Amino acid sequence: MSGTLPLFARARDLADRTAITSDGESYSYAQLLEDSAGVAAALLDGRANLDGARVCFLVPPGYDYVAVQWGIWRAGGVAVPLGMMHPLPELEYTLEDSGAMAIVADAGLLEKVRPLAESRNLPLLSSRVLMSHEPVALPVLEPDRHAMILYTSGTTSKPKGVVTSHATIQAQITSLVEAWGWTADDRILHVLPLHHIHGIINVLGCALWSGACCEFLPKFDAAAVWERLASGRLSLFMAVPTIYARLISAWEQVPESEQQRYSEGCRQMRLMVSGSAALPVTTLERWRSISGQTLLERYGMTEIGMGLSNPLEGERVPRHVGRPLPGVEIRRVDNQGEPVPDDVPCEIQVRGPGVFEHYWNRPEATEQAFMDGWFRTGDVTVVEDGVYRILGRSSVDIIKTGGEKVSALEIEEVLRTHPVITQCAVVGVEDDEWGERVAACLVVEEELTLEGLRDWAKQRLAVYKVPSLLLLVDQLPSNAMGKVQKPAIKKLIAGQE
Ligand code: AMP
Repeated sequence: MSGTLPLFARARDLADRTAITSDGESYSYAQLLEDSAGVAAALLDGRANLDGARVCFLVPPGYDYVAVQWGIWRAGGVAVPLGMMHPLPELEYTLEDSGAMAIVADAGLLEKVRPLAESRNLPLLSSRVLMSHEPVALPVLEPDRHAMILYTSGTTSKPKGVVTSHATIQAQITSLVEAWGWTADDRILHVLPLHHIHGIINVLGCALWSGACCEFLPKFDAAAVWERLASGRLSLFMAVPTIYARLISAWEQVPESEQQRYSEGCRQMRLMVSGSAALPVTTLERWRSISGQTLLERYGMTEIGMGLSNPLEGERVPRHVGRPLPGVEIRRVDNQGEPVPDDVPCEIQVRGPGVFEHYWNRPEATEQAFMDGWFRTGDVTVVEDGVYRILGRSSVDIIKTGGEKVSALEIEEVLRTHPVITQCAVVGVEDDEWGERVAACLVVEEELTLEGLRDWAKQRLAVYKVPSLLLLVDQLPSNAMGKVQKPAIKKLIAGQE
């Protein structure tokens, strides 16, 4: 058995407790250790150690996902989760960029990824088959070994791989466990994607580190989520603002007796968290009136884990993201490194053991991302009475929609391949439900409707990247240098609505 990493040592101490429930089954920590050992043994296939080889995996949120993630880690590999909603070109990009040694997929997804595996000559392995492999001796792992690469959109057109080690992941998790008071008695419902830091670290990672139970639903469905919230068995829930907005509208549509039952379940929970995008005050207030819970808003990023959080005990200030989490250092400085006063908008920079190591195979991007050892988040804040407020991204090219961060430039690349589009600019437009919606401003040669554009884009872009607003213009607003003026486009779109 690999004994060195605390996550697995802790799991052994908690052997009989339930780690995961999914698909109507409960799985103990002992079972998870056994099945992940099977995955590790199969991946090793006679080798002593994967030595940081990347394994991409496409497994739906649920028990098998966790067994595969732990299996890759225990074999000494780097886990690269693939997005369930990503179309083939995006999966292909991740495989290529990460230099994957193999793809692991759920039995139901093997055919989807088979062409990618075959064209690259990569082994394609079924998660359930791996789990049943006979155990072998597993390598001893050092905490500074690379553990995971998560792909995140930057200001350049293609996503970058954020590399974290086991030590980084542990620091990200333990900071939250301490701040939010996780214990083995907690039970959390998981409704988030598992190729994103929120779902992987804040929910799954914290639950398993704490010996708590993480429940999965087969797919996101507001009524099913409400049933679980109403059950009174959950102690924690975490989601992006878009999900809270959907739950609010589902609550509003059920009869009063159901509303009471739903609300009663929420009142029994100890903590509900929102993050990954700004939480509109209207959502916070409506949720409070429905559930009796004041959502705890926090701020974080794939590259740093979580950085700022409202308190578990004490006042949670609307529109604010609180103070630095344990182990996180935050600074606000100008280009010369001089501190900037609290009330002047300034980018925040972050340092600490939870900050990522580097972007995979991108030394230049990594170098640009740091200033004197501090990570430049690109998020602009002010500090009011000691608590931080996020004003937005310093770059207009990052759109936060439904908790997903997407690059406008990347969507533009795809739109430009449309036969009638001659010019395009993509911007995020503020929206109460989605945080931001993806809006496309286009110059076209022939008639194009939003519906037609969306149909076409669906084959080529992940759903959340498909524009939901369309503005047709004769000319894109540009400055004297020919550079497209995105703030002007945002104004035009806002005026049109
Ligand atoms: P990601 O790396 O996909 O988790 O996206 C991180 C980005 O989401 C940050 O850089 C922020 O721009 C944004 N973000 C995360 N949490 C919040 C929040 N509570 N309020 C506003 N923006 C947030």
